[in-house]
Amino acid sequence: MAKSSAPHKSLITLFVIITAIAVLLGFFLYKILYSQDVQAHKNVYELVAWSMVFVLLLIAISGTISVLTVTKQIRKLKDEASRFANGDLSHKIEMSGTDEVGQLAFAFNQMSDRLRASYQRIALEKQWDEILLENMGEGMIALDKKGQIGLINGNAVTMLNLKGKEVVGQLVYKAFALHDANGKKPLSAHDRPEMRVLHNAKPQSNVFEFWIEGQKPLMLHINASPVVIDGKTAGAIVILRDVTHEREVDRMKTEFISLASHQLRTPLSAIKWYTEMLLAGDAGKLKKEQQEFAQNIYDSSERMIELVSSLLNISRIESGRIIIDPRPTDLKQLVDGIVNDLKAKTEEKQQSLIISVHKELPKINLDARLIGQVFLNLLTNAIKYTPQGGEISVFVSRKDDQIVAQVSDNGYGIPKQEQGKVFQKFFRAENAVKVETDGTGLGLYLIKSIVESSGGKIWFESAEGKGTTFWFSIPMSGMKAKTGEVTLDELK
Ligand code: ADP
Repeated sequence: MAKSSAPHKSLITLFVIITAIAVLLGFFLYKILYSQDVQAHKNVYELVAWSMVFVLLLIAISGTISVLTVTKQIRKLKDEASRFANGDLSHKIEMSGTDEVGQLAFAFNQMSDRLRASYQRIALEKQWDEILLENMGEGMIALDKKGQIGLINGNAVTMLNLKGKEVVGQLVYKAFALHDANGKKPLSAHDRPEMRVLHNAKPQSNVFEFWIEGQKPLMLHINASPVVIDGKTAGAIVILRDVTHEREVDRMKTEFISLASHQLRTPLSAIKWYTEMLLAGDAGKLKKEQQEFAQNIYDSSERMIELVSSLLNISRIESGRIIIDPRPTDLKQLVDGIVNDLKAKTEEKQQSLIISVHKELPKINLDARLIGQVFLNLLTNAIKYTPQGGEISVFVSRKDDQIVAQVSDNGYGIPKQEQGKVFQKFFRAENAVKVETDGTGLGLYLIKSIVESSGGKIWFESAEGKGTTFWFSIPMSGMKAKTGEVTLDELK
């Protein structure tokens, strides 16, 4: 390593010498000026003049040497520093010394060490992020705010049968086509979940079909979330999951339940009809005990038909095979009809029933069979889970662009700790099981599916020992028609 000189030190020394000489010269001049005999000191003048010339020469030479030395070192430093600027962080400036230039070189070397360490750390993190992205189980696509693909991982490339990562830079809806689960036509750019998230900044999640030429369609669960920077949507992250197998298993399960229920329904109905005939005395008068047994068979067959019917309906709704046939419906008429069917039950339990349907409600486009099932289930529950002499009320009104129906009772209520499970399949609360052995726990699950598939919502409030209120809403615009294969199975 070249040892650098110390230009500033030599300069200081030089200036000290010059100052000393200047003091000496000053002293001589003072002597001469006060001797008033200039002639006598001619030699002295000459000496002073030469000394000054000599001093000036000395300054000029030493100054030039110093400037040249410093310039050379600074140029060297500049050359070395430009290697950093060009990205060569492994380079070390080979200059030492304790002067400013040496210290500057030392500081540069330290800075390059730190920069190199930071770069290595960032590179490692980036590499780690890339490894994570490549190895995550799902496909991942990052989009910019226009919908252009900025990043795509290997899983997404394989899932979408793309040639490679050359789709980077392309608009996502041009890179691959998606179909919604019912339609064979590809979704338009506007309907694509990845584009919708960019427009409204709300996460989008749904299952779509993806077609590869000559192969079975893939079912892709697509979850698109906005990337928000400073309150603005800067892009989106799209996660793709292949749910073809899960969907197939689901479909097979639903199909099995549908088939089994269907097969069970016919013999069960036969048991019910023949028992009914026995009870009616069609095969001769029954003894008291025979009458009791036959009644038991009849009640049990009714319960089994109810269960099978609920299972069948759930499978019909879940498989999307149900027909939705909306027609302008008078809600007052619909509710009155259902209440009428249930009159015998309320009278038996001496329950009072208040019905109030807003007078100015227009006819709403509804599938009366489906919405009737919702009212029927809520009212049957209110009657079942309210003791003798209780009160039940039904209110139907309009709130903004929704029809809101409310069914209340002052019955047993639903225990707080069980309320989270109310809409789950086969749920029956502990207090309900004690007072009412009959029940499948499928009614609320079924009507929730009906309400939600009609574009509405269902919710409730309940306090144990005080009562329960269920509400459901349906858009004023009504239900959307859907062609299907089957309607709801009705208990017979
Ligand atoms: P089921 O009535 O056949 O048991 P549902 O799905 O209709 O099935 O209801 C599920 C459960 O929710 C009931 O078993 C009961 O515990 C509770 N539940 C529903 N409605 C009411 C109500 N009005 N009051 C109290 N509990 C209710």
